[in-house]
Amino acid sequence: MNGLMQNSPLLISGLLDHASRFHADVEVVTKTCEGPIVRHTYETIAVRAKKLAQALKSLGVQPGDRVATLAWNTHRHLELYFAVSGIGAVLHTVNPRLFPEQIDYIVNHAGAKVLMFDITFAQLVSDLRPGLVHADTLIAMTDADHMGDMPAGSLCYETLVAAETADFDWPVFDENTASGLCYTSGTTGNPKGVLYSNRSTVLHAMMLCQMDGLQLSSRDSTLLCVPLFHVNAWGVPYGSALCGAKLVMPGPNLDGQSLYDLARDEGCTFSLGVPTVWLGFLDHIEKTGVDPKADLKLKRLVVGGSAAPRTLMRRLRDVGIYGLQAWGMSETGPVATVANALPQHDDQDDDARLDLQCMGGRPVYGVQLRHVDDAGQVQPRDGQAPGELQVRGPWITSGYFRHQAEVLDSDGWFSTGDIATVDANGYVRITDRAKDVIKSGGEWISSLDLEDAAMMHPQVAEAAVIGVPHPKWQERPLMVIVSKSDLPPDVQDLRRFLEDRVAKWWLPDDIVFVDSLPHTATGKLQKVELRKQFANHVLP
Ligand code: ADP
Repeated sequence: MNGLMQNSPLLISGLLDHASRFHADVEVVTKTCEGPIVRHTYETIAVRAKKLAQALKSLGVQPGDRVATLAWNTHRHLELYFAVSGIGAVLHTVNPRLFPEQIDYIVNHAGAKVLMFDITFAQLVSDLRPGLVHADTLIAMTDADHMGDMPAGSLCYETLVAAETADFDWPVFDENTASGLCYTSGTTGNPKGVLYSNRSTVLHAMMLCQMDGLQLSSRDSTLLCVPLFHVNAWGVPYGSALCGAKLVMPGPNLDGQSLYDLARDEGCTFSLGVPTVWLGFLDHIEKTGVDPKADLKLKRLVVGGSAAPRTLMRRLRDVGIYGLQAWGMSETGPVATVANALPQHDDQDDDARLDLQCMGGRPVYGVQLRHVDDAGQVQPRDGQAPGELQVRGPWITSGYFRHQAEVLDSDGWFSTGDIATVDANGYVRITDRAKDVIKSGGEWISSLDLEDAAMMHPQVAEAAVIGVPHPKWQERPLMVIVSKSDLPPDVQDLRRFLEDRVAKWWLPDDIVFVDSLPHTATGKLQKVELRKQFANHVLP
């Protein structure tokens, strides 16, 4: 027997509809690519999204069509988030910092018909154009005054929007309709497309607004530092509309000073981003001597996308900001676990709390999680036994776009490729990616733990550890360091420093210094690249 409750579909358009009705005056503030800061409200964003939706339909965009974007965090990109998915089409956000060949591959693989781009990417689009197979409509996300240097034949976003009226009702369709398509950033191979649905996106947004999720609420002013081209910017644009949080979009500038100034001027209370962004933010504070405790209302900051170093969490704490770690990936919606504290942690001392903040977190409702060894045996939740994390749930992928390969096991578990321990309370501690783990004589060495230990050294700015082949142990760790100043730390001193922090047999066989480490467009260490660089490295 079915229940007698209404069965209205969970649609992305409904989030903006709600925001425009009940949080009409809440602001969406953008530092634009053209330069000035512009202010909208949920009400005006909703009007513009409806006009944009009609413009897309007039251009022939049909349900299921992919609309690609090469764009920063702006109100226009936000409008696309709602307009494209709102008409049953698929928003295909593309990472503009990839190599042009990769972008061509991704946009063609996705079969995108329309390509929308920020003016900063005009040259990139001209370069890409000959390789684009399906994308014959180009739209520059700007106004008529800035169309001068755009690729020939490009349409103007603002002109298209101005030509339409807001007299439009969002169509109602099945909540399982695809809404967004995001390719994994390729740190572990060829990019693969994760295809989100309206339902998965709305459920995930509801989770973000829970106290044990990201605690997002109408009281927040959110500084959105995760690029909108990356994993639906962790669902926060949808979550912000759901609860009516103010949204502050930094445009192309994610440097420490720009973010600090915006956070101060817009009274931001909440933000999110990869560790690299926050390191830049903290460096700005240290270098300039500004006073964040006096200037900022920023109290909560989600760190994710790669492991948050302990030093980062401590430095945040020292300036009055709580670093909340979350773990996930494109395939998991993306947020799967959040390191919120439980009541029994209330009396923790500062060190114990930092330990907790350095965990990946515990599963939010909706995400089932377990970890298994190489033989597929479920491992105990004892905080000791490592295993590969597997997940399942309504915002976990069931397969990749236009890929035949089965990605779930017979019980529906998705293997994440991340190695972790899980404790009795369900907190995961990510120790590695399966491909990055260093297998020394049959035992696993965590590259993340070694990196974290090295980064506690005052002269170390960044550290990466990779496994290099070893005749006796199969693999041994090589540590690659970027030092904070021109004066690198003394190697013996660094060794002693590490000895106090990790098991002796984990100590790197060699430590080398470089000027910089390779990162992906989202600020993650590119270990594939690093392994190539050190492919011929001979250990002493
Ligand atoms: P890609 O897989 O191409 O890097 P994603 O953006 O989907 O693209 O990255 C997800 C990966 O990022 C995870 O599988 C994990 O290895 C890493 N990651 C995300 N959050 C954390 C975290 N809190 N701690 C450690 N690693 C993390």
